Amino acid sequence: MRFNPKAFKGKKACVIGMGKSGLACAKLLAKKGFQVFASDSKPRAALKASLGRLPGAISWEAGGHSDRLLKCAFAVKSPGLPHVLPILQKLKSAGIPIFSELEVALSFCKAKEIIAITGTNGKTTTTALVAQIFKEAGPRRSRAHVCGNIGFPISEAAPRALPKDSLIIEVSSYQLEDSRYFHPQSAALLNITADHIDHHGSMAHYIEAKARLFRHQNKSDACVFNAGDPLALKLSRRCPAQKLFFGPLGQGPVNAWHQKGRIHVRGFAGKLQTFDPPHLPGEHNLENAMAAVLLALSRGLKAQAVQNGLRAFKGVEHRLEEIGTIRGMRCINDSKATNVDSTLVALKALNRAQASILLILGGLHKGGSYSPLKPLIASCVKSILTIGSSAGKIENDLSGIVPIFPCGDLQTAVETAFKIGAQGDTLLLSPACASFDQFQNFEQRGRRFKALVGTSK
Ligand code: ADP
Repeated sequence: MRFNPKAFKGKKACVIGMGKSGLACAKLLAKKGFQVFASDSKPRAALKASLGRLPGAISWEAGGHSDRLLKCAFAVKSPGLPHVLPILQKLKSAGIPIFSELEVALSFCKAKEIIAITGTNGKTTTTALVAQIFKEAGPRRSRAHVCGNIGFPISEAAPRALPKDSLIIEVSSYQLEDSRYFHPQSAALLNITADHIDHHGSMAHYIEAKARLFRHQNKSDACVFNAGDPLALKLSRRCPAQKLFFGPLGQGPVNAWHQKGRIHVRGFAGKLQTFDPPHLPGEHNLENAMAAVLLALSRGLKAQAVQNGLRAFKGVEHRLEEIGTIRGMRCINDSKATNVDSTLVALKALNRAQASILLILGGLHKGGSYSPLKPLIASCVKSILTIGSSAGKIENDLSGIVPIFPCGDLQTAVETAFKIGAQGDTLLLSPACASFDQFQNFEQRGRRFKALVGTSK
């Protein structure tokens, strides 16, 4: 069933999960005249700080989900809640419809143009770059609202948008898996590698979640795919929209490719177009840029706006972020590298002729092996410094290639790096792990790293 606010007018709503998105959705529903009951499994004390003053129409409970939720006419599930949650089963058995935050938010959205970006890695960077290009196109083209996984809830952005505005949404697999009718006019699937398998249950389920990006698109829509990514390429065969591919030349027909440091595009305005990419390290950022260019062109943005956007884009914090050269060492914060694949792309991007990288690895283990890092560690890493609860597994998987320094925490790792490092080395935090064993999130880990490096001057 598609969520239709009118069908539930005057009825009680419940929202399960009171994180950023859940809370924003509860507030949106309250503003739209619903009585809302919100519920979270976290203890009251842990929630209080983030709740602030809630509107009177919202009541809530903490520390678990009670049967009070069964008194609601419909429920909203926050992204990322496990499907096996007993309360979800109870709601289903009671015949209470459950909707995703994404679709509830979009039911209040007047904007005619939705652009959605997903993929295992590169979503935030690409979303921010598309937003930059739209900004360069100016408000006469459309006012762009950037939201979703990038940190600004869809429930806040969607109701603000006017019909002529655009919504640029970073969508995670968590948001997609609960979507039934999501229909972006232009979408991009950047890549698919194993991640979040603990949540989705299997790689097949993870891929199915990603397929919901384009399921309701039609021939007048566009979907951008990475031709160099075997799983994304395979999935593209099921896409009903106009397909646009970026990737290496020679791997079938592509609409965007890069050669000699420039991005080339065909298929628009009846001619070949060429762009200078943003000043960001690594082949992966060229991929993100190609996806952003195809998305922008598919929405009819002018080449000049695209070029200006690419030129103005400075990257996103915590993604291969240059902090500066401190005591002769180049320091880079890639705290957002929360899986092995993103650490691999960081090493590829920084690979030099000699092994000069001091690599900080570790945090909360997500499953899987660190062995895929071995070849690049052998070619460009000088030493590994481990932190966090995954340290033992990392030391085991990567032993015998380069010296490994078990450091335990980030402060010890940074201090050790400055002791063992030499002029011309690179200190890289690209942990290949989640942060939750020692930090609230990857942002806090990245900020701590920058502070520690800053005090090492
Ligand atoms: P996401 O939002 O999907 O997590 P980000 O743009 O935040 O993606 O980048 C996350 C991590 O992945 C960073 O470490 C970044 O350097 C790396 N990365 C960025 N783009 C890509 C890409 N296209 N392919 C692989 N890794 C990428």
